[in-house]
Amino acid sequence: MTAPGRGVELREVPDPSAREGEILVRPLLVGVCGTDLELVDATIDPAYVVYPLVLGHEWVGALGHDVPGLGAAGDHVVVEGIVPCGHCVACLAGDTNRCDTYDEIGFTRQGALADLVSVPVVLAHRLNDAVPLEDAVLAEPMAVVWRALTRLPIGSGARVAIIGDGTIALLAAHLVRALAPRSVTVIGRRPEQADLARTMGADAFVLSPPEGTFDLVIEAAGVAEATATAIGLAERGATIALLGLPPHGSTVELGPDDLVNKDLVLQGSFSYTRRAWAEVVTRLNDRTLRPSPLVTHRFAMDAVDDALATLRGRRDGAAPRGKVVIDVRAPVTRA
Ligand SMILES: [Zn+2]
Ligand SMILES: [Zn+2]
Repeated sequence: MTAPGRGVELREVPDPSAREGEILVRPLLVGVCGTDLELVDATIDPAYVVYPLVLGHEWVGALGHDVPGLGAAGDHVVVEGIVPCGHCVACLAGDTNRCDTYDEIGFTRQGALADLVSVPVVLAHRLNDAVPLEDAVLAEPMAVVWRALTRLPIGSGARVAIIGDGTIALLAAHLVRALAPRSVTVIGRRPEQADLARTMGADAFVLSPPEGTFDLVIEAAGVAEATATAIGLAERGATIALLGLPPHGSTVELGPDDLVNKDLVLQGSFSYTRRAWAEVVTRLNDRTLRPSPLVTHRFAMDAVDDALATLRGRRDGAAPRGKVVIDVRAPVTRA
């Protein structure tokens, strides 16, 4: 992206060089998401972007060279996107998602939609050879979901409702399985997502809020009204986790007495911590997390526009849509 609002182009640029504390990684698969659309559309807060920008913050790559203590050239790695300063109060407490300084690969640093990218070595996590790339490419959104779940007092046997049928909602269904719930109900809007939701761990997929109440309600649709829906679905004493990000400035009417009378916890969660990444990588490496069925679309580097159009829902009609990925290694055929 050369400038805000000018779309994307495929261009030859000089290879990056690794600065002190950095390593070179060859991206293999790169996922795209709604935040990338906001970057392309220039609807994101400009304070969080530096142009020209190479997109790509959800990705798996191969080490470009031997890295002592991490792995050999060609070994697969996933890399945290947020580059924490390491010395502010939030960083020292482990809350790297709230670092005073905002710096993130694919936003203020060149992202992974490239042959080669330079990243801080401390942010790279080595993957076992057995981990499929389609699982690994979902590490970043899984870290977002995992960080939210690990803040919550979720007992085993919980009845869980998830509002939303996009990638974050379906990853939430997959990750919440690790917490031994009694049931997982996904409340979506697109009937074509039903099979995908069940594959990812949902017991039920419904198109309108069901009867009954839930011990944990996860809002992952990113629309303001869903917060009110979530409160309505909550059992007394339940926790409501807000994972979706509604448009800035959107509002919703709530009955605060419900929060009091029902003894509810309303919990937000922003991005991920370094610890959430480490825990997700551990579970990828031991194969407890296997989210790859969520990857439904794959494009070559010269078809990024098609990938973005797919992400906008303009191409498939009523086909299910999970994660859209770019295969950086796929042959580029267009001039
Ligand atoms: Zn993303
Ligand atoms: Zn910091």
